[in-house]
Amino acid sequence: MSVDNGSYPLDGQSGSGASRPLQSAASLPRLMVRMACDSERAFSASVRLAELPRLVPFVPHEAPETSLDFDLRFFRDEGRALLATLDVQTTVQVECARCLQPMSLPLVGSSLLQFVYNDDQAEQVGDAREPVLVDAEGGVAISNLLEEEVLMALPTVSMHEHQCQPAWQEEVEDDGVEPLVERSERPNPFAALAEQWRTPGSKGSGKKGEDQ
Ligand SMILES: [Zn+2]
Repeated sequence: MSVDNGSYPLDGQSGSGASRPLQSAASLPRLMVRMACDSERAFSASVRLAELPRLVPFVPHEAPETSLDFDLRFFRDEGRALLATLDVQTTVQVECARCLQPMSLPLVGSSLLQFVYNDDQAEQVGDAREPVLVDAEGGVAISNLLEEEVLMALPTVSMHEHQCQPAWQEEVEDDGVEPLVERSERPNPFAALAEQWRTPGSKGSGKKGEDQ
């Protein structure tokens, strides 16, 4: 009788992601890091996930227009290190580790980047910072930074929150055990030899039935 339509009031949060201007990934600049840090360049924008080549495998099939919001701010610290803060926010599609079906995952990444010129410098970067190797001219492409940040933020294992059907159960019984046994039975060279010796003598037994 009573239809409970009013139990989930909207809080008005649905429009919160629309504040950043949508930009094409191709228009994202490649920056000279020293200059960007010295002039404290800052970027706040939104790009389509599908326009970042390394992130194409993670674009949700049901939402191909999914965008990635980011804030990027270059600066130097008191030690003159070349730094940037990078925050990204998007939704990715990954494979559920239990049922192997696709699942959507809200993803947030946040890093303090330190730009370095070689591997020796990278090794000296503190744990709280993420070393980023600049190219031969001392530049970085913003699109590369975004790709790296999302790939780093991806969880190594994801599973549906609901109890989905495990896809691995049958495979373990059918495929997992048998190859193991096969592998442990190494071919015995003496067995092959014995087979060769036996073959000429065994002919007679096959003809026995025809004679009778
Ligand atoms: Zn699942």
